[in-house]
Amino acid sequence: MNLRLFVRKNVQLARCPNCGKIAALRRSRTRNVIEKILRKIKLSPYFCQSCGWRGKIFSYKISKNFFQLVLMYIVLMILSAYIVQKFLKSYFD
Ligand SMILES: [Zn+2]
Repeated sequence: MNLRLFVRKNVQLARCPNCGKIAALRRSRTRNVIEKILRKIKLSPYFCQSCGWRGKIFSYKISKNFFQLVLMYIVLMILSAYIVQKFLKSYFD
């Protein structure tokens, strides 16, 4: 399963959560171990060049068609399970 289908990169061009300015966010240096760990799970510290806001933003956002894709995978799984079941039934009969 390709994870890139589900998430899209939430670049630094995102809107500042504090002042709402676009493209003012810059990646900030990790200051301690906790931030380094958080960075590993793509929760990076950012700061706003415009208002000085500093905080953590998830680097990835769920894509618009996330639920469509999940639904599609579920349907495919049920369908393949149904086919396998049919096949096994006819095989053992
Ligand atoms: Zn700001």
